[in-house]
Amino acid sequence: MDLEEEEEEDYRSESRRKASTVFSVIASVLSGFLGNWACFKVSEMLNVPSQAFPAAGSQQRVAPAGQSRNKVVLKPGHSLLDWIRLTKSGQDLTGLRGRLIEVTEDELKKHNTKKDCWTCIRGMVYNLSAYMDFHPGGEEELMRAAGIDSTDLFDEVHRWVNYESMLKECLVGRMAVKPSPALQGLSAPPSLRPEPLSAPLPAKDHRPRYDWFQTDGTVNIVVYTKRKIPSAGCAVVDLQDDNLRVEMLLGRMSYLLYWRLSSRVQDHVDVQTAHSVGKVQLCLRKSVKEKWTQLGQSLEHHDTFIQCKDRGLFYRECVLLSKTDVTHNTQLLRLQLPPGSRMQVPVGRHVYLKTSVQGTDVVKPYTAVDQMLIPPSQSSAEVGSDIHLMIKVYPDGVLTPHIANLPIGASLSVGGPEGSLTLRVLRDVTHLYMLAAGTGFTPMARLIRLALQEFTVIRKMKLMFFNRQERDILWQSQLDELCTKEERFEVQHVLSEPADSWTGRRGRIDACMLQNFLERPENSKCLVCVCGPAGFTESAVQLVRQLDFSEEELHVFQA
Ligand code: NAP
Repeated sequence: MDLEEEEEEDYRSESRRKASTVFSVIASVLSGFLGNWACFKVSEMLNVPSQAFPAAGSQQRVAPAGQSRNKVVLKPGHSLLDWIRLTKSGQDLTGLRGRLIEVTEDELKKHNTKKDCWTCIRGMVYNLSAYMDFHPGGEEELMRAAGIDSTDLFDEVHRWVNYESMLKECLVGRMAVKPSPALQGLSAPPSLRPEPLSAPLPAKDHRPRYDWFQTDGTVNIVVYTKRKIPSAGCAVVDLQDDNLRVEMLLGRMSYLLYWRLSSRVQDHVDVQTAHSVGKVQLCLRKSVKEKWTQLGQSLEHHDTFIQCKDRGLFYRECVLLSKTDVTHNTQLLRLQLPPGSRMQVPVGRHVYLKTSVQGTDVVKPYTAVDQMLIPPSQSSAEVGSDIHLMIKVYPDGVLTPHIANLPIGASLSVGGPEGSLTLRVLRDVTHLYMLAAGTGFTPMARLIRLALQEFTVIRKMKLMFFNRQERDILWQSQLDELCTKEERFEVQHVLSEPADSWTGRRGRIDACMLQNFLERPENSKCLVCVCGPAGFTESAVQLVRQLDFSEEELHVFQA
């Protein structure tokens, strides 16, 4: 069993055990706070969904046909910007004229209609009725949260959305304490919410561990991840003032170290990775040459090993270094991390850009790309001091016009990385097929580079790239260059709004196009990756399934 299989096995056993341990762990964590209970309000855990594998919101999971998360067409006047305006208008969106109340479980259950829709997220209750027509996922989706504690549902679908800011005018109050002292099934308000569960230790201890040592002038931290580390690296390091946060992204798992350092260090961290042995070494330079008696004081969630999806998002302020036009409406942004930060973004993961629009935080995911599609002739172990993002500017969008207008040197808040592609899906694959539409190409870009550089067993990789017009094709010349350079790589372009002069394929994705494209030679192992607008993805998944590709042979990128 190799390390990714082991990790998978850990994950499965964790999921199996989680259901049975969740109540007792919550109970034991809460019991530690019993002395404080008189001043904290604890409500009943209303809903603990069972954990299936992969998790329902996982990017690994392909929604059953017709059930994928779709965006709906919002009525005119119901954009995000319109919502922000409404929240600033002074209109009473809760029906309580500014009062904040304590909500019992019974009371919450009563508010379960479209016109009177309350939900609880992390112990706080919101009235969603006014937001109903503004929800990009539509009314039906939002009504799943009506009258219940929707924390888990919310986290599964889009935990990165800054709901506190978006819904602050909809806040009804807090869940009330249930007088019952019974611990089983209790959940805590935000301040008391137990730490996300660490994976129970499997039979063999696969949990990463760390060590540290010092010289006169340096402090060195060594993390033994106990797995091979992909060439893109896995370390996300943030040194902010005296706080050092180190996160290792290991497939679906995240290992976190977090200290307030004993003494001051210079704001630069050197990260060295020994990929094959899974060792990451950080070197910090002491501000004053003196002996440290300890590394520092542990901060929240220090030394925890949990699923990435359970880890809170961490933001840092980055500087916009450059903007390069890729097409008429898409730019490649290069963002520089602060001097104390290093971000090695694993392939297929996205980061979050957060900015304040009229006082409301707006957050959107963007897949990290490389500077160019063509892999360098020699791979270098790069340490991420900057990141590249491909941003399509939608004139009616809230965030992208703002980003497009940012001057060089402006600051942008970047959270993450996040996402669940594990390289295990590529193991033994001989034929890699990619169906991408528009900016859905971005996760494919790094996948292509990686496959060309490191997966020699892949005999053929084919991209079918859907766009409206020729001018919309991202990195077209690089794709063409790659085709001529790399025998294994092939691209087919399909345009839905082609000019008369276009001689290539036309139309939208259909069965006929895929039938010839997705060949399955004897003794091959195929993987089909799909990414694009929700409707495109849904059609592509349906068609691929109709061609008898199994769930294991399909990976859908969804952010
Ligand atoms: P776009 O230009 O609007 O569309 C690209 C192509 O897809 C067009 O040819 C379009 O045909 C076709 N298409 C759109 N909807 C379709 C449908 N329902 N059925 C069949 N074909 C359809 O795309 P875009 O504006 O770049 O948007 C890209 C999307 O990818 C965004 O929604 C973005 O969120 C998503 N994305 C996701 C990830 C991720 O999950 N990791 C990463 C990057 C991008 P028509 O002209 O006929 O509409």
